[in-house]
Amino acid sequence: MSDCLFCKIIAGDIPADKIYEDDDMVAFRDIAPQAPQHILIVPRKHIINLSDLSETEDALIGKMMRTAAKIAADESIGDGYRTIINNGAPAGQEVFHLHMHILGGAPLGPLVSK
Ligand code: 5GP
Ligand code: ZN
Repeated sequence: MSDCLFCKIIAGDIPADKIYEDDDMVAFRDIAPQAPQHILIVPRKHIINLSDLSETEDALIGKMMRTAAKIAADESIGDGYRTIINNGAPAGQEVFHLHMHILGGAPLGPLVSK
């Protein structure tokens, strides 16, 4: 999608600190980290969020989860990390291209603030 920030990062049109890529997804460091380690895993396919998924993406989502664990291990946070997908603006989604946050490297606080 031509007007999507993460499509542009995937294409290399906008720079990012990429730490992993394969045929299906790319992972790079978040520009505004909320933990010592804050990585985003993004499928190459432009999918808006989980609510935009179809059955054909079941394997992709499974692979994203397994890849998150591999990246966490490679980044030495495999003993404790959090994965988050924000779906929709009320949940905090700002970039409307599906992405999974991986956070770690320090004790993490509560999931949501009240
Ligand atoms: P969301 O709020 O949509 O779940 O997450 C979007 C994330 O993308 C945020 O954590 C934000 O810091 C990150 N982000 C926004 N723009 C850029 C950018 O240009 N480069 C990188 N690496 N991360 C970005
Ligand atoms: Zn996109």
